Amino acid sequence: MSSKPVMRRIVCAQCEQPESRCWCEKFCVLCQSQMGIRLCTDGLLYCEACRTACDYHTVDWQGPTTDY
Ligand SMILES: [Zn+2]
Ligand SMILES: [Zn+2]
Repeated sequence: MSSKPVMRRIVCAQCEQPESRCWCEKFCVLCQSQMGIRLCTDGLLYCEACRTACDYHTVDWQGPTTDY
């Protein structure tokens, strides 16, 4: 088995489309807000406040490579 990290394509958990093609009604899974909703790396939608509070990242987040 390859040990290379897989660039997993993150898709909407509801429609299984990437964010650019997702036409779902977007609201935060935590607080039901509709402000600043983005698809995050776990395939769920979060508002900016919840992303910040819970340290979630949007799918296009290009942070340091995971090292844990
Ligand atoms: Zn969707
Ligand atoms: Zn929220």
